[in-house]
Amino acid sequence: MKIGKINEDNAKNGGYMSQIHAVRRLKFDAGHRVVNHESKCRTLHGHEYKLELYAEANELDALGRVIDFSDIKKRIGDWVDEFWDHNLIIWKDDPNLEYLFACDGAKAPYVTLYNPTAENMAIDLIENICPPLMEGTGIKITKIRLHETENCYVEVRL
Ligand SMILES: [Zn+2]
Repeated sequence: MKIGKINEDNAKNGGYMSQIHAVRRLKFDAGHRVVNHESKCRTLHGHEYKLELYAEANELDALGRVIDFSDIKKRIGDWVDEFWDHNLIIWKDDPNLEYLFACDGAKAPYVTLYNPTAENMAIDLIENICPPLMEGTGIKITKIRLHETENCYVEVRL
């Protein structure tokens, strides 16, 4: 039998807590347009967004986890499914707002206070959306990556 060198005490008190994140990936499909974009993103279009949520704790739980991965999915993934997945994400100041709301039988578009670039959506997530969803866990989402495409993503940190 080989005994590992890292024991529970090392993991909890060995200075790793500021460097360890539990990362949960989520996906959602959404449409948006960037108002006044200089090129094609001005046109209504969609992405298969990929979201990476970095969760941080003050200490590992009794089992040695930051948080159970499924707990992040349940709390934040359910919100994303309800409000962003298969929906339009549109700015309240979009001059076409009324037209975009006119889709009969569909869920009401998610209206933002900002032009829905990946940057603004990631900031909204880390500042406004995630904190109340994680309330009571003692866990913070301290970094987010939001991928619009295979090659393009934004990263925001608290
Ligand atoms: Zn886009």
